[in-house]
Amino acid sequence: MKKSQGQVLLGISIVTRASVLAILIGLALNLKYLNWKNGYNLSRLVGLAAGEWWKLFYEIYDGFFSMFGDPLTIAQSNAGMTWSIRIMGVPFTDPIAFLSVLLKNHHIEVGFGLGLIIPLTLSLTFGRVFCSYVCPASLLFFSTSRLRRFLLKFFYFPDVQMSRGSAYGVLCGGLVLSYIFTHGVWTHILPYFAIGQTIFHAIGFGTLSSCFVVILGFVLADLLLGNNFTCKYLCPTGQLLGFIGSKSVVSIKRDAADCIDSCNACTVVCHLSVNPKVDETKNCSLCGECLIACPTKCLSIGVRP
Ligand code: SF4
Ligand code: SF4
Ligand code: SF4
Repeated sequence: MKKSQGQVLLGISIVTRASVLAILIGLALNLKYLNWKNGYNLSRLVGLAAGEWWKLFYEIYDGFFSMFGDPLTIAQSNAGMTWSIRIMGVPFTDPIAFLSVLLKNHHIEVGFGLGLIIPLTLSLTFGRVFCSYVCPASLLFFSTSRLRRFLLKFFYFPDVQMSRGSAYGVLCGGLVLSYIFTHGVWTHILPYFAIGQTIFHAIGFGTLSSCFVVILGFVLADLLLGNNFTCKYLCPTGQLLGFIGSKSVVSIKRDAADCIDSCNACTVVCHLSVNPKVDETKNCSLCGECLIACPTKCLSIGVRP
């Protein structure tokens, strides 16, 4: 059976988010490789220091990077965590990281600033698309919302509504804290930083990061307080990207002639509380779920009229 546009988008979004998680794991392993490359530069020594499995891992990374040039140089061109990443030398900088560094350090390094180009271009073109196609935390919240939906059949959980502006309050609070203390406070504020840190600590140091507790807190908030509570009301990145992409080139569109007055399916299903029924597009992450839910298939995604 031919897949609808919504099903295709949902499938792609699951694959891309899983790929981002894999990249984060790869970067954490990359750091481990770099440490051993600088420290030992010999797989036999890695085997003696860390065991046969890590020796095998070192040899695989060494062999893989050798295909592209000097392994050390290639490994160094793939570095960082969610805050600021370089993949094959291409920088990606988180907009919140940019604001935080600018406020505290009063200057921005060129490479760090250039890393904003891709995230901003994505938002200006596709809106809040980062949330459904890139953010590693959203895959967790996506699963939590399914669990909440299932549990609601047996238990009562409230659906707490707050102002979307509360996320800007979190942004201001985070900027003040990072100014007073360190940029590291963001790892306990932003869900995807928390996930990145947890992966980094687990693989890099074999320890459980305190960020894991933060992630549990966000999951509980989503489960007990409301569907995608964290993304709607707490995460400043989502709000910021929604604002930047509020007039994005590509957006969700509705064919009013086929829309049913008594229907509300698109609004009910939207995990970010966007209302396509009244042609609202701000904060839409192009996830495709409302396209699947629409009984007349009058919703589509395309270039904004
Ligand atoms: S709102 Fe924040 S945590 Fe949620 S998907 Fe977007 S960036 Fe990720
Ligand atoms: S309106 Fe909501 S459900 Fe529809 S594509 Fe946008 S974010 Fe997804
Ligand atoms: S789901 Fe489709 S038919 Fe129903 S209100 Fe939304 S756009 Fe209209």
